Amino acid sequence: MTTSGSMKTITDLPPEIIDTICHELTLEDIANMQAAAPLLDSMVKFIFFPKFTKMRVTMDENGSMITLSPRSTHSYLEHSFSVSGDSPMRRQILEDCSSVESLTISCSDHNKDYHILNAINRAEIKLSKLVINIHSPQKCDDCLEPSFRDTYCVKIMNRSHRKITEFLREQASTVNTLKMSTSEEDSISVKLRPLDSASTSTESHVHFAHTADSALNSSLIYPLFKAFNDAKPSGPSSVRLTVDWRIRLDLALQSAFMVALPVWGHRSRVTKMRIGFSSKVSSLSHDEINASLEAFSKQLEFTRNLKELVCDVTNSKIDPCNLESMIYALSSQLDLERGHRIRVVHDAPVIEDTRNWVKEEWAGWPKVY
Ligand SMILES: [Zn+2]
Repeated sequence: MTTSGSMKTITDLPPEIIDTICHELTLEDIANMQAAAPLLDSMVKFIFFPKFTKMRVTMDENGSMITLSPRSTHSYLEHSFSVSGDSPMRRQILEDCSSVESLTISCSDHNKDYHILNAINRAEIKLSKLVINIHSPQKCDDCLEPSFRDTYCVKIMNRSHRKITEFLREQASTVNTLKMSTSEEDSISVKLRPLDSASTSTESHVHFAHTADSALNSSLIYPLFKAFNDAKPSGPSSVRLTVDWRIRLDLALQSAFMVALPVWGHRSRVTKMRIGFSSKVSSLSHDEINASLEAFSKQLEFTRNLKELVCDVTNSKIDPCNLESMIYALSSQLDLERGHRIRVVHDAPVIEDTRNWVKEEWAGWPKVY
C-alpha cells in the first residue's frame, strides 16, 4: 500500500493517524490488520499497545473476556477494549500487551477453564499488581446439598484455587501488590515496597479483612501468599498488619501474621512490626483485646530479631490503666534482655516498654512513625 505525495509507505503515516484508526476498530480487527500488513504491525505495537497498562480477565459459566484499559482515560483515544477469551487472535493480542503491569482476575470458583491464564504467562506479561476476585456462583444447586458439595463442588473449587496459585507462582517475582477477595466483605491485600531507595529492605503492609475460614486458608489463602513470598529473595524487614474482622479477632490477627510471613525463613529478618485495628476495636472489651494479643504473641517465636513491636489500639476506648497488661500479653515470646521494645499507641497516652521493664512515656498525642 503506498500513498501519493511525499509519503512513500504506510509507515510514513503520522502516529496519531495509526492511533485514531486503531481506536475505531476492535482488538480482533487490529490483530487481523497487523497480520495482513506487516509494515503496520510494528507501528501498532509501538504506538497503540504501550498505553494499555491494565488488564481485566473475567471467567464465568458464560465464558471469558479480556479487557484492556489505558493508564489514564482522559481523551477519546484512551478507552478500554474487550475481546472474548476464546478469540482465535487471543495469542497475538496478548503478545502485544507487554506494557500491562496490573491484572484483575474475576472468576467463579466453579470455573473449569484456565487456559487464558496460561496464555498470559506464555505471552511474557510481567505483572507488578495482581487482584484476584474469586467467588462461589450464586446458582449452584449442588453447593446447597452438602453431599454433592463435598464430592463435586469442593473438588472443582480446590482445583480453581490451585490454578490461581500456579498462575501467581509464575508471576510472583515481579508482583509487589497482591489483593484477593472472596466476597464483597472479605478481602486480603499485601503491598511490598522498599523502605528506602538506597537499601534492599522492604516493608510488607498486610490489610486483612477476611472471615476466618480454615478450609479456605489451607486451599487458597496460605498457598497464595506463600507463593507470593517464596519468590522474594528475602522477607520484609518491616511488617505492618492492619486487621479488620467480623468474628474472632484472635484468628484474624494470627491469619494476618501468616499472610505477611508465611515463609519461616523470612521471620528472623523482621526487625519492626506494627499491628493496628479497624474502628471496630472500640466494640471489644479490654479482656477480649488482651486475649487476642496473647494468642498473637505466640506467633512471634521465630521473629528473633524483632526489635520494635508497636500495637496501635487507637479508637479502642481502653482505660489507660490497662495498657500495661497489654504489654505483658504481647511479650510472652520476646526476650526483653535483648533490647526488644514494645509500644502501645493509644488515643491519649503512649506507653512504652524498653529493656528496663516498664518505662512509661505519657504523651499528649499518639506517636506515629
Ligand atoms: Zn457448587
